Amino acid sequence: MPTATKETLGFQAEVKQLLNLMIHSLYSNKEIFLRELISNAADAADKLRFEALSNNALYESDGELKIRIAVDKAARTLTVSDNGVGMSREEVVQNIGTIAKSGTREFFQSLTGEQAKDAKLIGQFGVGFYSAFIVAERVTLLTRRAGLPAGEAVRWECSIENEAGAPGAGQYTIEPAEKAARGTDVILHLREGEDELLEDWRLKSIVRKYSDHIAFPVVIDNETVNQASALWTRPKSEIKDEQYIEFYKHVGHDFEAPLAWTHNRVEGRQEYIQLLYIPTHAPFDLWDRQHRHGLKLYVRRVFIMDDAEQLLPAYLRFVRGVVDSADLPLNVSREILQQSRDVDAIRAGCTKRVLGLLEDLAAKDKDKYATFWKAFGRVLKEGVGEDTSNREQIARLLRFSTTREDAESVSLADYLGRMKEGQDKIYYVTAETFLAAKHSPHLEIFRKKDIEVLLLHDRVDEWLVASLPQFEGKALASVARGELDLSRIKAPEPDADHEVGKYAELLRKLKAALADKVKDVRVSTRLTESPSCLVADEHEMGGNLARILKAAGQDVPASKPILEINVEHAIVKRLAPQDAQLESWAGLLYDQALLAEGGQLEDPAGFVKRSNQLLLALAAS
Ligand code: ADP
Ligand code: MG
Repeated sequence: MPTATKETLGFQAEVKQLLNLMIHSLYSNKEIFLRELISNAADAADKLRFEALSNNALYESDGELKIRIAVDKAARTLTVSDNGVGMSREEVVQNIGTIAKSGTREFFQSLTGEQAKDAKLIGQFGVGFYSAFIVAERVTLLTRRAGLPAGEAVRWECSIENEAGAPGAGQYTIEPAEKAARGTDVILHLREGEDELLEDWRLKSIVRKYSDHIAFPVVIDNETVNQASALWTRPKSEIKDEQYIEFYKHVGHDFEAPLAWTHNRVEGRQEYIQLLYIPTHAPFDLWDRQHRHGLKLYVRRVFIMDDAEQLLPAYLRFVRGVVDSADLPLNVSREILQQSRDVDAIRAGCTKRVLGLLEDLAAKDKDKYATFWKAFGRVLKEGVGEDTSNREQIARLLRFSTTREDAESVSLADYLGRMKEGQDKIYYVTAETFLAAKHSPHLEIFRKKDIEVLLLHDRVDEWLVASLPQFEGKALASVARGELDLSRIKAPEPDADHEVGKYAELLRKLKAALADKVKDVRVSTRLTESPSCLVADEHEMGGNLARILKAAGQDVPASKPILEINVEHAIVKRLAPQDAQLESWAGLLYDQALLAEGGQLEDPAGFVKRSNQLLLALAAS
């Protein structure tokens, strides 16, 4: 229901803070405000055209969608107008008065107060409409939703205090208004010193620089300043890199340039154009399930929907861009997209292109690929389990830290290339943190023999290795599972040859002492420094995965690990089967092994007590 009077409403606290920060930090690149307003106007025109597909009356008598920029030198105002879909009162409050974006709170927590750093952050957050306040001390938005009568327009206004640059008490006003033409006018009352923005030549040059790709005419003084054709329909050879980049900022709602892109006209069973981008950084809400992702879908140049997530598999949800189909019906809905075989073909095609683009990037630009991996590697890893048909190709794109390189930069191919003579497995260790993986006792024999091991410490890694039994014919094997036989691998030092029989009784006694915790105790072939470690049976779940599942509230099948002891270790050497304190020693070896792999002690106080008893006994002997 429209309210008849003028209301003053408060911004969300975050919006105030955002306005302040933005004015200060984006000032050095202030002309981008125009790009943002034109981008919104173009989105609104797209939406109108889409809604009009099923309700032609929405065009009223004005079917020529365009964006106009006008100045009033006397009033010192600059107005950006569109005849797009407009907004209802409710939509204005929702879209302009609040920041609906999820992850907003996290964003504000990440601010440092240091201008240079925060300026970069704010670019990542994407401030869109609010960027008007970089150059305006007052912004008036006059808008009428398509389909509503002229009397049901809305005027929204917000001023900022000049000197301090603080938003006007954090408030805006909203009131009913008249507007004959459908759509939105954004009127900027320029700040002092911004008069250059009243000059046509200046405005035209900004539009040509940032908004040339906009598919609707951008008109200044009755002159169309941009090319006004959908960028993706133009031949590649006629598109400059800068134009690709500016178009990305528009479709990706991103302030930063993309890392890479691929633009193709696909012909065959399905005919479509794809223009797909890899962003440089992850959005704040990449891990938020509600976060919008997916491509913009057009059908024969007509915008159909944002965030069409059906056009790419979930593990490529960071990709931005446009698919323009020649074959899908104009009334295609999300439900239809979910079931359509035609869409399956488009998704398969887009997937291939993105994986190919990443492969290219990895081959040609290691630094850029490292940037990509840092931002999106964890998402891409999901693909190994999710997309069996492309598993090999995805596996080639993976990067790991290993016992040889801390940085996550080692590919499986690099690993294969460095395998020792006689080595036929790709070894990995999983743990909850990088350091726990790096210092895992299970790695000791591998270090000694100089065999490289992948250090896996993302939660998704357990799923990754479960879905990737082998790579180029070499099995992936956990260093903490099953019997370890490295005897065929040529290594600097031969294995110490233990007479296992000598320890039979000790092992039996230890096993009896730990009967409710472990299923066996055996002499380790993997330890060289630590006295003990836990390993899982060949076909059982490792401790790390069991802990992850438990933390996620899932039932974990009960299975006991095997305790391995290092008979070369001084403590173990001192142990005799008839030792009066053998039970305490057994408990200590078990607890230490559990701690070292990141497990939690069942009885921490008991551990401390036992350790102290043993220390005292040692000191006394
Ligand atoms: P974004 O474009 O990334 O959504 P903005 O801050 O630029 O963020 O815009 C916020 C929202 O305000 C838009 O999503 C849209 O719903 C609405 N909006 C802004 N400008 C217009 C306009 N000219 N016409 C219609 N709606 C608009
Ligand atoms: Mg915007």
